[in-house]
Amino acid sequence: MLTHAEAKQQILETAGPLSTEECAFSELRGRVLAETIQAPHGMPLFDNSSVDGYAVRAADVVEASPEHPVSLKRLGYIPAGDSGDFELRQGECVQIATGAPLPQGADAVVMKEDCAASEAQIEVRLAVRVAENVRFQGEDIQAGEELLAPGQLLGASQLAVLATMGFPRVTTFRRLTASVVSTGSELLEIDQTPGPGQIRESNRFMLEALLLEEHCQVPLVTKAPDEETALRDVFEQALSCDLALISGGVSVGEKDLTKRVLEEMGVEGIFWKVRVKPGKPLFFGRRGETIVFGLPGNPASSFVLFEEFVRPALRQMQGRSVLEEPMVSATLEDDLRESANRMQFLRAQVRFAQGRYWVRPLPMQGSHSISSLVRGNALIRVEPDSGIIPAGTSMPVRLLQNEI
Ligand code: AMP
Ligand code: MG
Repeated sequence: MLTHAEAKQQILETAGPLSTEECAFSELRGRVLAETIQAPHGMPLFDNSSVDGYAVRAADVVEASPEHPVSLKRLGYIPAGDSGDFELRQGECVQIATGAPLPQGADAVVMKEDCAASEAQIEVRLAVRVAENVRFQGEDIQAGEELLAPGQLLGASQLAVLATMGFPRVTTFRRLTASVVSTGSELLEIDQTPGPGQIRESNRFMLEALLLEEHCQVPLVTKAPDEETALRDVFEQALSCDLALISGGVSVGEKDLTKRVLEEMGVEGIFWKVRVKPGKPLFFGRRGETIVFGLPGNPASSFVLFEEFVRPALRQMQGRSVLEEPMVSATLEDDLRESANRMQFLRAQVRFAQGRYWVRPLPMQGSHSISSLVRGNALIRVEPDSGIIPAGTSMPVRLLQNEI
C-alpha cells in the first residue's frame, strides 16, 4: 500500500497540464495564465499629483508657514483627465486634482488643506519639498518589468494589472471539465424520504461545490445504483471530461463495482489504497487524457481525499504553480490519543489568539461523520504511529475554507 507521499507523487506524475488557448478578458477570472506578462510601459504613465491641491515650484514656498503664508498667482485648474497644458513661472501655481498631470515648471504639490484661496491668489501656509505629493512616471512599474508569471491564477489584482496595462486577451490554460458520479443503490435525491436502509446522498453536491470553487466546469453531476449496466452507462459519460470523480463502491464489498467496471472500460488503474485515515480505499487511474479518482462513499473520506489528492491534481492539470493551500503550525489544545498505523487527517477547529494558531480535534473522527465535516475548519496531519501526542505540541494543520 502506498504512503501519502508516494500516492501524491504518482498522481502528480500522471496529471499533466491541459492545453492552452487565447482567452478574452471577460472570461479570464478563475483561469490560469500560460504566458509571462511584461509591462508594455511604465506606471504611472505620467508625473501626476497624489493629492487635491496646488502644483507649485517648491523653491517658491520654502518660507511658507501659517504665520507667514506665501502668496501665489493661480493660473487655473487641472482636473483628472485634463492634459495639464500650463507652464508655471516663479510666483505662480495651478490648482490640481489627484491623478492629474503635473504642469510644466511645477515640482511639488501643496495640499489644498494647507492653503487659503481667494479669487486668483492662493496663500500657501506650509512649505513642501521638491517631489512632495508627486507620483513620478515609471516609479511603480518600469517598462519591461515582469508582472505575472505562467501558472498564476487570475483573480482580482491580476485582472486589475492586465486591464491597466492594456491586455484585452492573454494565453491561459483551457478550463478543466470535471464530472461527479455518486454510486450506491441506497442513495436518494434531496427531496426524497428515506425508507429502510436508504439515505439522501451528499457527496455529489460536496464534490461539485469543491470543483466549482476550484474554477472547474462541471457538466455532469449524477448518481447511479450499484448495477453494472447503469454504472457503465454513466461512467462512459463521466470519462468524456478531463477529470472524473466517482464516489462509492471502491472498497471490497460484494457490490463495490466501481473499480472493476472502470477497469473493464479501459481505465488503467495506477493505484488503489493509500495508507491514510480516513480514505484508505482510494482508486486512481487514467483513460487516455482523462484522470479518474474513485473516492470512498463516506463523506469525510471523500472530503479529506479531495483536499489531499484531488485538489493538487486538478490544479496541476489547470497549469497552476500553487498546488495546495499553505499549511500552518498550530498548538494542540487537547492531548491526541488517536494513534494509527496510517497517516491521519483529523477534522478540527482552529482559532487564532495571542499571536498564534490553536487547534482542537473534533470528537467524531469516523469516516462517516458529517458533524466533524461541518464543524471543522482545519485538518490536523498526524504521522503514522505517533502514539499519544500531548497538548501543547505544535502540529501541522491545513486550514479549510469552511465557516463554522
Ligand atoms: P461505499 O464507499 O460505497 O462502500 O460507501 C461507504 C459508506 O458511505 C456507506 O455507508 C454509504 O452508504 C455511504 N455513502 C456512499 N455514497 C454516499 C454518498 N454519495 N453520500 C453520502 N454517503 C454515501
Ligand atoms: Mg456503496
